[in-house]
Amino acid sequence: MTSPSVPALASTLCPLCGQPNRCATEEERDTGVVAGPCWCTRMEFSAELLARVPASLKDRACICATCASQAARG
Ligand SMILES: [Zn+2]
Repeated sequence: MTSPSVPALASTLCPLCGQPNRCATEEERDTGVVAGPCWCTRMEFSAELLARVPASLKDRACICATCASQAARG
């Protein structure tokens, strides 16, 4: 049983796979560049997918597009 080592305050990293989540909201905070609404505002996150996010990262880190689309495909 292995899990990616996710830093405690990795708001820019996906809590599920540890890759950059590219959330526009986080990028805006980092760079000051407003990239527009994030793709995640148009994506549906299922309860099942959200349940896989570690409690310590809930409401802190955005799930990445890869994990979100994988879940959407089932
Ligand atoms: Zn991911």
